[in-house]
Amino acid sequence: MPIATTNPATGETVKTFDELSEAELQRKLGLAHDRWRAYRTTSFEERATWLRAAADLFEEEADFAARLMTTEMGKTLGAARREALKCAHGMRYYADHAAGFLADEPLADPSQVGAKRALGRYQPLGPVLAVMPWNFPMWQVMRFAAPALMAGNVGLLKHASNVPQCALYLEDVFRRGGFPEGCFQTLLISAGRVESVLRDPRVVAATLTGSEPAGRSVAAICGDEIKHTVLELGGSDPFIVMPSADLDRAAQAAVEARVQNNGQSCIAAKRFIVHSDVYDAFTGRFVSRMRELKVGDPFETSTDIGPVATEQGRADIEELVDDAISAGATVLCGGQRPAGPGWFYPPTVIGDITPDMRIFAEEVFGPVASLYRAADIEQALEIANATSFGLGSNAWTNDEAEQQRFVSDLEAGQVFINGKTISYPELPFGGIKRSGYGRELAAHGIREFCNLKTIWIG
Ligand code: NDP
Repeated sequence: MPIATTNPATGETVKTFDELSEAELQRKLGLAHDRWRAYRTTSFEERATWLRAAADLFEEEADFAARLMTTEMGKTLGAARREALKCAHGMRYYADHAAGFLADEPLADPSQVGAKRALGRYQPLGPVLAVMPWNFPMWQVMRFAAPALMAGNVGLLKHASNVPQCALYLEDVFRRGGFPEGCFQTLLISAGRVESVLRDPRVVAATLTGSEPAGRSVAAICGDEIKHTVLELGGSDPFIVMPSADLDRAAQAAVEARVQNNGQSCIAAKRFIVHSDVYDAFTGRFVSRMRELKVGDPFETSTDIGPVATEQGRADIEELVDDAISAGATVLCGGQRPAGPGWFYPPTVIGDITPDMRIFAEEVFGPVASLYRAADIEQALEIANATSFGLGSNAWTNDEAEQQRFVSDLEAGQVFINGKTISYPELPFGGIKRSGYGRELAAHGIREFCNLKTIWIG
């Protein structure tokens, strides 16, 4: 895939970028390594000052950052602006809390282990490679970068090839915030060159957000090199609606949860599992709201859904929908690409899904909802857990016992009751099963790339 800005609303390539030469790549890896030696000794106060200054820039330049995102990957301008502001929020969160999250953990009674003092201390690891996707081109990077930099690591970013301007902007924001040169560098390289970076002894660990094949490759190489990884991969989140739910609120949240980011979010609700008693009532509300959404130019304020980010992405969606239709699924709305330029796909709802359809097992990365009918809570849980993924999950019920059952038995990294899954800096974020491992955000995210050193002083 060439490194280029191609506007998905028109299909036009507006700017292309040269990949780093091998010599440039080596210089950047050397700089990261050398910088880390000095940077690891900086104080939390210094790092927080730089991170807050970078957050100020994000806020001041939110419109500019938003235009970059919308141009490169097609999310609506309003969503892109909110993403820029969320980055600033995440940066301030870690500027405020990193020192507390990484404070020494002393053993209350060191005599238990025959010591005068015994404690755990979090120390930075070194240069960490982040392989990042295009769907939240700034926030996905920030939820790695803000904690990594506050912990005293330095960051190397291999961003998706279709968002180079976002990648370069991020590097620039950290530099202008005051971080010393080399603390955060963007590497304009293709996916094929990631292996050499992972195997380089100067790079100590990696985090990847993206597809299962990409995650598998990075984890295998890092396994071979005995380097720590965090993987945040795909999801096919269930959204369960039980009879006691507020159906209007649930239907509204269902629409937002499915079409956010033009349907391209790992934590978008993708499978809607509805109790038979309220199936028709919920479906009517859901489908009519999906039909009302306006698909179009992501720069227009009236647009709800912009284009899919890549031509291949739209082809993948169409393949899954067509496969389901040919195997007997019912299309309740959408299901046909519009004529004209750009990679648009309409909000689509499909019912009568059966396990032999690909859509039953695979993630649809676009505004397509699958509907399932469940006779009771047992069947709802069975359908919800019948997936290789385990990222987020949503259940709508006002019955206390049902709420506890979903909290206990949904196989997912997150469960949201009467709300849609959202990533908050304040809460840990990550998955189980084939959705990945490790956690981002909150205290857990900053500790992932630290050496928890046991200290024993006799
Ligand atoms: P990819 O996983 O291919 O891309 C994500 C990042 O990984 C990009 O930086 C990409 O670089 C890089 N990459 C790809 N292959 C490798 C590899 N073998 N080794 C190292 N790095 C690699 O996602 P796509 O954009 O192709 O999207 C495909 C599907 O992945 C989606 O339909 C969706 O299901 C899932 N996905 C999930 C995301 C999530 O948020 N969890 C985000 C994006 C995608 P390059 O761009 O240069 O190929």
